[in-house]
Amino acid sequence: MSYLRKNIADMAGYVPGFQPRDETEWIKLNTNENPYPPSPQVIKAIQAATGDDLRKYPDAASRAGREAAAELYCYPTGWVIMANGSDELLNNLIRACAGEGEEIAYLHPSYSYYSTLAGIQGAQIKTFALAESGEIKDFPERYTGKLFFLTNPNAPFGLRWKIEEVAALADCCDGLLVVDEAYADFAEGNCLELVRQKENVVVTRTLSKSYSLAGMRLGLAIARPDIIAALDKIRDHYNLDRLAQTAVAAALTDQDYFRDCVERLCATREWFSTELSKLGYRVIPSSANYLFASPPDRDGKRVYDALYQRKILVRYFNDPALAHGLRISIGTKEEMESTLQALVEIGC
Ligand code: PMP
Repeated sequence: MSYLRKNIADMAGYVPGFQPRDETEWIKLNTNENPYPPSPQVIKAIQAATGDDLRKYPDAASRAGREAAAELYCYPTGWVIMANGSDELLNNLIRACAGEGEEIAYLHPSYSYYSTLAGIQGAQIKTFALAESGEIKDFPERYTGKLFFLTNPNAPFGLRWKIEEVAALADCCDGLLVVDEAYADFAEGNCLELVRQKENVVVTRTLSKSYSLAGMRLGLAIARPDIIAALDKIRDHYNLDRLAQTAVAAALTDQDYFRDCVERLCATREWFSTELSKLGYRVIPSSANYLFASPPDRDGKRVYDALYQRKILVRYFNDPALAHGLRISIGTKEEMESTLQALVEIGC
């Protein structure tokens, strides 16, 4: 006899991107981490917070971080919630909206963790196919499920929908439209304004990518106060530890450093994209800190293995919709030069 719920016993867990133990020996382009360090202000703030105060619980309401986010994104503090990574928010949004047996939806391909979260909740899953052109196939005139996740920019293609297009999707949804903007800081626009305009839109953000803080686990959502209040009931009451709260306020406040890192990264992305195209790769135009690129022989696994031999880690997805290519995170210019050189050696 199993003591477990059947859906938990039967499900496969999420498989995160590989984190090698000997990290420094690799060029690591497989988990969309930022190649630049966090702002010096963040390091200083964390160091100052590392002391006797750690014996005390953190602020359960994460006020300093929420206030910094509210100011930056021009929303009242009551429209902002902080989380231990945006993964926590995606999880809690499903828990808040979809009961066992109720349906949620997302595009295929997109972030595969949505499927794991739905599996834990026992929710039904509907997927809509996404073409590399950005076309969403078979999206109904009305989507009646409880929640629809839209990764914008999309992962792993890096495609982006404009705010008018997302607004039109929101109008077709009976349930919540969660715009997962994990990569929006690398794009030319975002959907933050939609939260004010549409009752059923929530935007989630992370500090893992554009703020170089994947190791601190920091995410946030902008939503209407009734939704924030629901998410507040569900979360662990001390979800952000003291160091994370210190880090988030310092990171969001140092916008000069943030902008400089994002600009450098986007310039490298454009350069790398052009160079890959010259090698004969098909590259989808990306608004994120990664590219999805296919070699001329459309054998993503061959190139993945050959890069792996050279201690360069990229992301290969064993999925018929994605196996012809690779998702390559954008590192420093030097890392991308080495990767390009390796691809020349590997050949097409
Ligand atoms: N959404 C997308 C599309 C992602 O790729 C990721 C990172 N894997 C996340 C959300 C979660 O980010 P985090 O939990 O680090 O904030």
